[in-house]
Amino acid sequence: MTATNTLVRHDNLTHPRTVERLVAGEATSDGAGVKLTRVLTQPLQRRLDPYLMLDSFGTDRAEDYIGGFPDHPHRGFETITYMISGRMRHRDSAGHEGLLQNGGVQWMTAGRGVVHSELPEQEDGRMEGFQLWLNLPAKDKMNAPWYRDIQSDQIPEFTTDAGVTARVIAGMSHGVEGAVQREGTQPLYLDLHFEAGSQFAQALPASHNAFIYVYRGELRVGDEAVPSQRMAILRNDDGADGVVLRADAPSRALLIAGRPLNEPIAQYGPFVMNMKEEIFQAVQDFQAGKFGS
Ligand code: FE
Repeated sequence: MTATNTLVRHDNLTHPRTVERLVAGEATSDGAGVKLTRVLTQPLQRRLDPYLMLDSFGTDRAEDYIGGFPDHPHRGFETITYMISGRMRHRDSAGHEGLLQNGGVQWMTAGRGVVHSELPEQEDGRMEGFQLWLNLPAKDKMNAPWYRDIQSDQIPEFTTDAGVTARVIAGMSHGVEGAVQREGTQPLYLDLHFEAGSQFAQALPASHNAFIYVYRGELRVGDEAVPSQRMAILRNDDGADGVVLRADAPSRALLIAGRPLNEPIAQYGPFVMNMKEEIFQAVQDFQAGKFGS
């Protein structure tokens, strides 16, 4: 983290960010027919650099998730899966295996390549969560794969006097260091739980791209209301020092920010590199069985 992040007083923001636009996302399905909403879609990758994708899934109907995500490859970025409720078993070609459940996070760095599966370990009940894709700097795209299961009780958490509970998945908030830090992209990933009538301030460097996704209730950013199931992209005005979020009723939202890489993005499905030639290479390597062992 930079010194700026730790020194800014969170109750003392003078130039909070405003909302640039609201995004509803697109209903789609992925894996073996898992229904989800793609909130951060490909046309927004440049605007929200270093983030490449955000999927939201939430259903009580087993047929919407039961197929899960059978074996599939990734190269060149990181996947961060946050399970609000449900159980998903993860296995990959690097020999990692883990169970992701209520409140837990799975952070996987695909690097030069993994093949993995993500399969539900429940036959009924609610499945709800998010998958976020975070790009890797060009110099790290071919690093060895890395993976960590972060159980719910290992996610640092604090509650403000105003009545907001913050779960710090990545980065730093109010002096609390999150479960994961990344130097290149400096991701901030917070899950915020608001009581009625509460507000939360977060310092953010003006150059970092940032957005919120409200998944319960409704938030206000300045004069702008952000309803449930909407992403709000926050403006990067010169001199902006953070964001202030307010809730009139109990609400929950993700606040996500990061330092843009400003590198070319070449994506073909689950491969995200810088150049088209690297994508051809990724497809060849995958077909030749060179991902994992
Ligand atoms: Fe995957």
